[in-house]
Amino acid sequence: MIEDKNPQRTPLSELGEFKLIEHLTENFKVTQKSTIKGIGDDAAVLSFGKKQIVVSTDLLIEGVHFDLSYVPLKHLGYKAMVVNLSDIYAMNAKATQVTISIAVSNRFPLEALEELYAGIATAAQLYNVDVIGGDTTSSTSGLVISVTAIGEVNEGEAVLRSGAKPNDLLVVTGDIGGAYMGLQILEREKEVFKVNPQSQPDLSMYTYIIERQLKPEARKDIIELLQQIDVKPTSMIDISDGLSSEVIHLCKQSKVGVDIFENKIPLDPQVIFTCEEFNIDSTTIALNGGEDYELLMTVSQEDFPKIKGNPNLTVIGYMTDEDRGMHLVTRSDEKIPIIAKGWNALKD
Ligand code: ADP
Ligand code: MG
Repeated sequence: MIEDKNPQRTPLSELGEFKLIEHLTENFKVTQKSTIKGIGDDAAVLSFGKKQIVVSTDLLIEGVHFDLSYVPLKHLGYKAMVVNLSDIYAMNAKATQVTISIAVSNRFPLEALEELYAGIATAAQLYNVDVIGGDTTSSTSGLVISVTAIGEVNEGEAVLRSGAKPNDLLVVTGDIGGAYMGLQILEREKEVFKVNPQSQPDLSMYTYIIERQLKPEARKDIIELLQQIDVKPTSMIDISDGLSSEVIHLCKQSKVGVDIFENKIPLDPQVIFTCEEFNIDSTTIALNGGEDYELLMTVSQEDFPKIKGNPNLTVIGYMTDEDRGMHLVTRSDEKIPIIAKGWNALKD
């Protein structure tokens, strides 16, 4: 489905490991004050003064986390960055550096890795983080990418999953369910393509949800917004596995319950009509679909005037005493227990 725009195929063996690393990383510039030494030594050197440091790592494996038959490598590089940066923002921190490690088989030519790194470089520039190192090794089969992101936060400003209190408002950024429905469209088109490689599907009505799947964004802007409006959430998490499993994390770690109102959950019109097309319930998708990389946070009632009416922030419920449990209040005012059906990395 993805056209091969770059027919040149330079075998990696032509360069060797050191030339390859040099080639892939030569354009990365250092822009963060905290980066003292980036790529090119045994280790990077960072200096953060009095700040606290947050660190997060993710591992992406071909065939498990991504399918190169419809994910362009440039998007993959971009997404590998975004999913990690999202974890840093979910701590209310500013992302500053990343390291990138790759294991690659000789099935990939140099041009493929250039594409991957073009996506990494685009994200590094947009999110203003320095690429300060990594590791490069061979793999017998697929592609493996691991990104470690580093960020900084003033003492006392980090937001954990454990700080929610009963009566706090539950707030979600943006809209949810799009990435999952985008994946359904891509999977469907992959099947169509297998039968008829000449097919040229018109996907223009699904552009938003496909983009949510292939090119998600991390909510750096929300961390800046929270600072501007002077709101420190009481707890926060990013939505990688779906609303229900994330809200369960907040509740369990904060020892509170929750009521979520079905009619408040923000859905894009493309999510709604694609759910109708696939004959699935959009609330189920919002609760259990994953990979939206929005932020889910709790905010004290006192701060409500500061967030009220902000188009980026939707109040979808409130926290309760732990013994009240975790519930979805449906449009017909029924209370349904929330259970984690989110994507489970260890399930077959
Ligand atoms: P070492 O033998 O100490 O592991 P390497 O030759 O692997 O050193 O790495 C040389 C430099 O290049 C280091 O600064 C390392 O962090 C960086 N580096 C290696 N691989 C990558 C990569 N895939 N992306 C970014 N930087 C890398
Ligand atoms: Mg190395």
